[in-house]
Amino acid sequence: MYRNLRQLALSALLLGLTAALPTAAQELNLYTARHYQTDDALYNNFTRQTGIRINRIEGKEDELFERIRREGPASPADVFLTVDAARLQAADDAGLFAPVNSRVLNSRIPEQFRDPGGNWFGFSYRARVIAYDRSKVRPEEIASWADLAKPRFRGKVCVRSGGHVYNRTLVASLLHHWGEDRTAEWTRGIVANLARDPKGGDTDQIRAVAAGECEVAITNHYYYTRLLASNRPEDQAVVRRVGVVYPEQNTFGTHVNVSGGGMLKHAPNKAAAVRFLEYLASDEAQAYFANGNNEWPVVPGVKLNNPPLESMGNFKVDRLSAAILARNTPKAQRFIDRAGWK
Ligand code: FE
Repeated sequence: MYRNLRQLALSALLLGLTAALPTAAQELNLYTARHYQTDDALYNNFTRQTGIRINRIEGKEDELFERIRREGPASPADVFLTVDAARLQAADDAGLFAPVNSRVLNSRIPEQFRDPGGNWFGFSYRARVIAYDRSKVRPEEIASWADLAKPRFRGKVCVRSGGHVYNRTLVASLLHHWGEDRTAEWTRGIVANLARDPKGGDTDQIRAVAAGECEVAITNHYYYTRLLASNRPEDQAVVRRVGVVYPEQNTFGTHVNVSGGGMLKHAPNKAAAVRFLEYLASDEAQAYFANGNNEWPVVPGVKLNNPPLESMGNFKVDRLSAAILARNTPKAQRFIDRAGWK
């Protein structure tokens, strides 16, 4: 009898221990399209602060999206991080995200940079800018996106494929500000002004300007920042020859897009997911997150200590909401295709 009681007590104790285990070993499964030097510090600080271990699955944006979709309700993914509002919105449209209603996120992240329903949040933003040959172009000649479509730049424009999400969201912003007719005219003008068939990524366009293949190019700002920060003599030669302009400073401001993420609908660790998203909006995490790719933090007033980025100065940001931008992208793609921007 006595022995049985002791056994009973022992098994009760063991049961209690097992039940307590999930809290003792909390974890978060992060599917991320990010892979930067600052990521280790970003994630380790979260684990130090919360005790929640992060299991990282890294991959390309579209691969991770497909993977989460394929895994369905069995997916272990708690949080998905990716770039571009259009990609975040596509994940949302596919029903992958669950809404997060967090006072921390709603108060720290400006409305412009998050989904109004709380399904995704931007944590840093990037600008689409015009790179130009300092010896051939005056910055005043390219104050507006419209300038790139003028006869002045016939055969002088380099840009990556029109199907790329960066160009799609740019055209989506122009559709909002300019309307359909003017945007259609602009996309046709860009195609007419191409120096070569679109190829390569944004850095290749900047290098093509430096090589004299084109006078102007469209690029995300951080590709230029990377060249600025590089010690390689060939990169230093590129930035000596090529400058950048933030377009639309006298009008609606320069088009920006976000890097961000959200909590997944089938997340097994929802509480940990919310804590992680809130952590990403903290001052400390904002600096790591933004510096990783030389972007700007969405939370105002965060200090970066990033001289190459800071040397690119301040600019007027287009205040168009990332969510509206994202919803305009399917239409933008039709304009790009109709213009023959391959
Ligand atoms: Fe990029």
